[in-house]
Amino acid sequence: MEHPPYKFGLLVKRLLHPAVPVVIFLVFLAMAAGLRYGLIHQYTGQIQANLENEARSMASTLEWEFMVHTNAIERIASRLAIDPKTPESEWREDALNHLEDFRIYQAIEWIDRDFIIRWLVPAAGNENVLGFNAAFDQKRLMALEAARQSGNYDVSGVIELRQGGKGVVIYAPVDTGPDNNGFVAGVVRVETLVRQLLASRESAMFRIKIHSQGAPVYTLGDFESTGDPISYTVPVKLPTQEWQLTLEPSPAWVDKQRSPWPRWTFVTLLVMGLLTSLTTLLLQLMLKRNQDLLTTRRELDEEIAQRKTIQKDLVRLESTDVLTGLANRRFFMEDLAHTLNIADRQMRQVALVMLDLDRFQMLNDSLGHQFGDELLVKVADRLNQLSNECITVAYSGGDEFMICQQHVEDIDDVIHLLGLIKQCFESPFVVQDEAHSITSTLGVAVYPHSGLDADILLRNADIALYRAKEQGRNTYQFYTEGMQEREVMRLELEKDLSQALANNEFVLYYQPQLNLKSGEINSVEALIRWQHPRRGLLPPAAFIPLAEESGRIADIGRWVVMAACRQLAAWKGTRFESFTVAVNLCGRELDDENLVERIRDALEAKDIPANRLEVELTEEIFIQNIEHNLDQLTRLHELGVHLAIDDFGVGYSSLAYLRDFPVDILKIDRSFITEITERHDDAVITRAVINLAHNLGLRVVAEGVETQPQLDLLKSQGCDVVQGYLISRPVPVAKLEKALDSGALEKLATAGTDL
Ligand code: C2E
Ligand code: MG
Ligand code: MG
Repeated sequence: MEHPPYKFGLLVKRLLHPAVPVVIFLVFLAMAAGLRYGLIHQYTGQIQANLENEARSMASTLEWEFMVHTNAIERIASRLAIDPKTPESEWREDALNHLEDFRIYQAIEWIDRDFIIRWLVPAAGNENVLGFNAAFDQKRLMALEAARQSGNYDVSGVIELRQGGKGVVIYAPVDTGPDNNGFVAGVVRVETLVRQLLASRESAMFRIKIHSQGAPVYTLGDFESTGDPISYTVPVKLPTQEWQLTLEPSPAWVDKQRSPWPRWTFVTLLVMGLLTSLTTLLLQLMLKRNQDLLTTRRELDEEIAQRKTIQKDLVRLESTDVLTGLANRRFFMEDLAHTLNIADRQMRQVALVMLDLDRFQMLNDSLGHQFGDELLVKVADRLNQLSNECITVAYSGGDEFMICQQHVEDIDDVIHLLGLIKQCFESPFVVQDEAHSITSTLGVAVYPHSGLDADILLRNADIALYRAKEQGRNTYQFYTEGMQEREVMRLELEKDLSQALANNEFVLYYQPQLNLKSGEINSVEALIRWQHPRRGLLPPAAFIPLAEESGRIADIGRWVVMAACRQLAAWKGTRFESFTVAVNLCGRELDDENLVERIRDALEAKDIPANRLEVELTEEIFIQNIEHNLDQLTRLHELGVHLAIDDFGVGYSSLAYLRDFPVDILKIDRSFITEITERHDDAVITRAVINLAHNLGLRVVAEGVETQPQLDLLKSQGCDVVQGYLISRPVPVAKLEKALDSGALEKLATAGTDL
């Protein structure tokens, strides 16, 4: 299909071609030349016609003149015929009168019947003619004889006159036949005759050529012919013969005839052409400039459009998380603020859900960041399927996602959303060709009850998430008023924690461990307590996570090791001298490069053999930061310190680390022991773990033993050591020593009594 603007553009492009002004000029030039040629042609025809007129006029004048002169000669002849006795003098007078009247005669003669010229006027200039025989050749003789017989006059044709020059002689017979008395002849010079023709014209204007019977007879005219002269030839019908009169105009005459119009027309059109092509050139320049401006404008427009696209992309990038493709935290918060504004006007509720992936950090550390990133993308994809016009999903960073539900009528709507979120985690995530079951913990804050602006709502959803995590994973928690107070308390506690060490507020409690094989107690686990000035004695769960978050755990850990060593030193020389003390270390403490040196220094400072100290570590430590931790623990083991895996069985599923790490003791988690007598599977697991440990050459400690049947079962399963409330709760050292001194605790190996 034709495209009009395209066609127009093509036209403009063609008009802008540099050849266009030249073509226009050439067209005008051609027009000018054509017109000039036409006009010249027309005027040449005109000139030719004028020349023809002139020539015809001359020819008829010549014919007429000749006739008049012939008639005059005939008259003289007829008068002489009437009176043949006319004396010469009278004839002369008559002839002279004719000469007077017709000045072109060279001579008027009477020729006798023997063709001899007898009389003649004027005498001057014609002296040598008298007595001349006019029938000087056979042709003349015959012509004259014929004239005499017919009575008609005869014209000689152009002959060389005896007087000199060329001339024509008119012979009029005097009477006819036998009465003939000779001829009256009029000699006419051709030159005189022809000049007579030019008398009324400018003599220099024409050249006259007379031809008789094809032969040139006479030429009059004295000017230079230039180029290809024009001419016109007309017949001159004279009595008895025919001449041709050729008229050739002088260049001056031709010039006079010529019109200035062809030149003017030519020049005018040429000037017009020049002006038109110049105007076209100017127009072209203007159009070109205009086009250039349009092009520049278009380029600018394109650039602006490009920049706008880039800006849009930038805005999009600014609002989108590159990894997950979800909205980022900044955009989400802006959107949330906007949503809350609308919700305020419409008196509606809005729910904000903070989602944290359980055990993500551990997976990320153990399986690599690439794995972590891929898992996040997969989770993001599933969560993103929940998003619609009422639900916005964003990635907050780390392993946290944020979900906003805009139209909340009642709490059931939120519960429904939480159910949908939970469904997202029901099937395992396939990452790097392996299926991983992932769970998530959720914190929920609902506008307006849980906060009136986006920041407060977010903070409270965070608090709720924190509480949910505290309660264990794979659950959710709504923000409540009390949480805020607890959060304040937590913050206060964190502040107090900074002073606790300096104020010597920590204390170690000891929980004895009963050796089932020997029936003796010769090891204890040191468990920290915080003697808070206002809140009383706080368990580790109340402040160890805080200390880990704030980074104070390293100092606390150092204090614990020192305190344990101090206790071991204090027991020197007592019956507890051979006791082993187990201390707990968390993952953050292992990050400290100087950990091994610190422990060695502490042992050396109190001169304690390293094998009197045990270090308990949860499973996570063995799969986090493996290279570094393996190095730390190997060095620790080389020092002589025993290593125990705490809470075994609840952490990581792979047992490969048992092979790689220098572990001495395995502590079965309390959760397997609590129902060991009721649940067959717990008993089976415990037995399997004990067997596994023994096969690996490890000692087994069962934690959380609270009843005698539990102890008996563990004993029957071959468990090495038990620890739990059945033997003793964690107690201050004085109480421990007193209980041990009583010997009551050891008796439990055979028959249990509570402390
Ligand atoms: P853990 O190392 O597994 O310690 C055993 C915990 O189980 C202790 O709680 C103890 O009181 C409790 N327990 C022992 N027997 C029984 C029983 O028969 N029944 C019940 N229900 N519980 C029993 P505690 O003292 O509150 O310590 C909790 C956790 O805090 C410890 O678990 C340990 O992981 C951590 N912890 C304790 N002291 C320290 C420390 O000095 N440094 C570090 N980093 N963590 C510590
Ligand atoms: Mg422990
Ligand atoms: Mg434990």
